[in-house]
Amino acid sequence: MTVGVAILGATGSIGTSTLRVLERQRDRYRVVALTAHRAHDLVQERAAAWGAPYCATVATDGVECLVAAATHPDAEIVVNAVVGAVGLDATLAALRAGKRVALANKESLVMAGDLVLRTAVDGGGEVVPIDSEHSAVLQCITGHPESLARLTLTASGGPFREWSAERIRGATVAEALCHPTWQMGRKITVDSASLANKALEVIEAHFLFGLSYDAIEVVVHPQSIVHGFVEFVDGSILAQVGHPSMELPILYALTHPERVPDTGIRRFDAVAQGGLTFEAVRRDAFPTFELGVAAGRAGGTAPAAFNAANEVAVAAFLEDGVPFGRIPELIARALDSHAAGPADDLASVLAADRAARACVKEALA
Ligand code: NDP
Ligand code: MG
Repeated sequence: MTVGVAILGATGSIGTSTLRVLERQRDRYRVVALTAHRAHDLVQERAAAWGAPYCATVATDGVECLVAAATHPDAEIVVNAVVGAVGLDATLAALRAGKRVALANKESLVMAGDLVLRTAVDGGGEVVPIDSEHSAVLQCITGHPESLARLTLTASGGPFREWSAERIRGATVAEALCHPTWQMGRKITVDSASLANKALEVIEAHFLFGLSYDAIEVVVHPQSIVHGFVEFVDGSILAQVGHPSMELPILYALTHPERVPDTGIRRFDAVAQGGLTFEAVRRDAFPTFELGVAAGRAGGTAPAAFNAANEVAVAAFLEDGVPFGRIPELIARALDSHAAGPADDLASVLAADRAARACVKEALA
């Protein structure tokens, strides 16, 4: 009997990689539901190829189709690969329905980490990360999670790793979209250039692994071969290593804690790879990273405000010619006017999200 998988965001970068992984694992999995935003023809084509009983696009069927796919009775695993805050409801609904959520949509955890984890416990579901750094950590701690003391997430440093702060402020869209090591959707690629993505990942790690912010470090590693380091209570450190490809973390999110044979992953050759280097984050050149980590430390609804402000600022950079250097300015403005409060319920989280969006839009008007 195969395991039913629903894929939200089935036409995107992660969605497409997921289908490529599943193609090699057809004896274990079947696709039961797919969603897209606007790519109606592509998602229909993919549903037909897999014989999936449910297929919908948000543009035609409304945003409710995400929850419908996430709670589809034939789905045991929900791959949440939509981009942005719109993914939160589906994550919560799937967990409430007792499903495994293979989570690429890190925004769900950033916005409402406590709520997501509580919903998983109450509903009997579980969150397994797809994000490569968090998959690395999970792979290292599986078997002895209670012995985890600290962790280090790696960052490629993005296209502006060696640029001056001033040059970064004037970066163009084409420059920001030119990622040195990873092929990803546009929004996360811009987040990787500003290091907002790494701040989101620090917050994601805080919730997933229950560590304080003081126990989570970030190091720049331009080759993107080491995905994360885990330090245990006895001082031993384990790292997970491989070529930058999301297919391995996607497969692991489906099979955790087991592993299954897969020939599709490019094998690693240490000698051919050559040197691996590590350097500190240049915090002065990447103010968005600092703002995001500070929002994480502030806790409550601050991470939701950071995420929402970043989404609107990045969309304005991509679509409306707003300078790259304004992204952190707009986020700082939203965080300054953010009314701090607990993130105990969905209403508080969504109110913080709305207020931050409104603040950035007003500044842009
Ligand atoms: P893409 O932009 O490539 O794909 C996004 C997918 O979500 C598409 O299927 C898109 O549909 C759909 N979508 C977009 N907007 C909406 C919306 N408003 N409502 C419903 N569906 C929507 O993104 P990625 O695959 O790169 O990223 C997806 C998530 O995974 C993000 O949270 C990202 O941070 C995370 N992630 C991605 C990694 C990567 O390597 N790409 C690595 C780690 C995490 P359509 O095609 O119709 O527009
Ligand atoms: Mg990542």
